[in-house]
Amino acid sequence: MYTPSQLTAAAVAAAALLAAGAQAQTFPAGKPVTLIVPFTAGGPTDKVARDLAEALRKPLNGAVVIENSDGAGSTIGTAKAFRAAPDGYTLLVTHIGMATTPTLYRKLPYKVEDFEFLGLINEVPMAIIGKPGLPANNFKELEGWIAQNKNAVNLGNAGIGSASHLCGLMFQSALKTEMTTVPYKGAAPALVSLMGGQIDLMCDQTTNITSQVEGKKVKAYAVAGLKRLSMPAVYKDLPTLDESGLKGFNVSIWHGLYAPKGTPPAVLKTLNDALKVALKDPDFIKKEEALGAIIVHDQRVEPAEHKKFVLSEIAKWAPVINDAKQYAD
Ligand code: ASP
Repeated sequence: MYTPSQLTAAAVAAAALLAAGAQAQTFPAGKPVTLIVPFTAGGPTDKVARDLAEALRKPLNGAVVIENSDGAGSTIGTAKAFRAAPDGYTLLVTHIGMATTPTLYRKLPYKVEDFEFLGLINEVPMAIIGKPGLPANNFKELEGWIAQNKNAVNLGNAGIGSASHLCGLMFQSALKTEMTTVPYKGAAPALVSLMGGQIDLMCDQTTNITSQVEGKKVKAYAVAGLKRLSMPAVYKDLPTLDESGLKGFNVSIWHGLYAPKGTPPAVLKTLNDALKVALKDPDFIKKEEALGAIIVHDQRVEPAEHKKFVLSEIAKWAPVINDAKQYAD
């Protein structure tokens, strides 16, 4: 015989299961899905998220909107996504900051491993770019100019924990020169300052700078990965930092999609399936490739692989960041 309280508990559990099932079946029931972007509008993370939102519309059968929640090198927006209701309607699109902020920030209001991982989206190369009036016309000349000006050189980034910050840290350490770091809330405002000559240099993602490099609004000096870029054509003749003497220099960025912890498994599956469809969307692929991004199609779009990859990236970057000893609270 069951006691009345046992019967009530069983009824509550059954109702919760039914509700979760119904929600998963109907998700996304006519309500827009929000992608939180933890950087400013118009920057590289924002661009990939907007393109992805467009490509997700069809498989999710509804609106997908962007919410920019910038500041503190992505940690404000990431914390907001972490605290969002775990119902699949609020997701996070972010980049390598997911793997660098746990070491860079002494206190974070979230644990990366507590997010639900939905899959990687793309990989994006980075390049060293300078303000339009910079006297250096190639990387050798740039090295000489930096050596002359040392910490009078203003190196912009998108905030502590951003990709541009990480690449800038590695660039300074490879050149054994400390420059003056100027943090912004995103790569978009940093790039505006670079074009205006308020800062001198930046290591930025091709997805942020391709049209400015093509339009000669900034000067490009070298790419930060180990291989030269064959696409977009404007980067074709740029050397790598590695071949320019900074041996082993290799930074490239990736973006991923996340949901708050506790999102029902069936909703996560719907979202992962939708992501896989979006990543095959020819329009999405075309837009991303035109900016220099490479869409991920392999195992890393599987949630378990995505998580494994991010945890391996945390381990990979921790010693680099600890060496640079630039932490934030
Ligand atoms: N992802 C950029 C960076 O880390 C920031 C942004 O998207 O605005 O440099």
